[in-house]
Amino acid sequence: MAKIAFIGLGNMGGPMAANLVKGQHQVTAFDLSASALDTAVEKGAKKAASAAEAVKGAEIVVTMLPAGKHVRAVYENDVLPNAAKGTLLIDCSTIDVDSARHVGELASKAGLEMVDAPVSGGVGGATAGTLTFMVGGTDGAFAKAQPVLEKMGKNIVHTGAPGSGQAAKICNNMILGITMIGVAEGFLLGKRLGLDVQKLFNIVSTSSGSCWAVNNYLPLPGPVPTSPANRDYQAGFTADNMLKDLKLAQQAAQTSGASTPMGAEAAQLFNMFVNAGGGAKDFSGIIKMLEGK
Ligand code: NAD
Repeated sequence: MAKIAFIGLGNMGGPMAANLVKGQHQVTAFDLSASALDTAVEKGAKKAASAAEAVKGAEIVVTMLPAGKHVRAVYENDVLPNAAKGTLLIDCSTIDVDSARHVGELASKAGLEMVDAPVSGGVGGATAGTLTFMVGGTDGAFAKAQPVLEKMGKNIVHTGAPGSGQAAKICNNMILGITMIGVAEGFLLGKRLGLDVQKLFNIVSTSSGSCWAVNNYLPLPGPVPTSPANRDYQAGFTADNMLKDLKLAQQAAQTSGASTPMGAEAAQLFNMFVNAGGGAKDFSGIIKMLEGK
């Protein structure tokens, strides 16, 4: 059993922290949102008054925050000044590679080991403890992080050097952003052609159009009861966060010289959806914009 500080208890961090509690770890939690913190306490975590307080005395610090600027601020102000020597730092947020490397360097200067360990699998995977973790860091840091990550996920991949977990994550999410738009277009076309949504789902989910966006996150209500489409596109994974990831992918494509025309198009469409007020909705809600509603 380890003493773990968990900072950021939103859609993903909340259920991930609950799985660490279930895995017999002692979790001290903090979030700026009082309701997110209360939910974590109901699931067995101990409440901290601040991120700094959570970090004091912890052997492992897990962060699950929205973006690079939040991770930089929490590391600079709370984590690094308060973490004892030997503390392992695990950042599970999806952030830009530069911020991941920056906080990694600060950690190393402070004599602390760190891994970037972003996840895939959505809120369903976070709740079930079946997430995929993409882990960047030294062999030693990975070996220490692995048993903790196994309490929250099922597929733990060491991607390589610090920052490489984030690189893998933005590739995955660019594919997801593109496929969600493709699935939405395919099902809207099907509706226009008079096809029954359930029957089209039965075909596509077992045919060559099958993908995660169809099988787990269908953007129309009905066939996949757990998909956000059944609850008015309540997130889930917000369109704001999807747009953030698509922009990160575009930035990385430019600096590396990779050709990603579909990724660029997906970023533009999600930008339109967010500008039209859809940012807090689940990203699958983009189907409403494509439908003209
Ligand atoms: P979220 O917005 O639901 O949760 C983020 C939490 O961080 C919020 O509760 C917020 O109050 C808290 N927070 C922000 N600043 C803070 C600070 N300074 N101190 C303490 N708490 C602070 O987001 P989420 O959906 O849980 O996503 C978290 C990260 O995981 C993001 O980087 C996202 O891209 C990534 N991700 C999300 C999903 C998904 O399906 N939701 C899937 C994979 C990866």
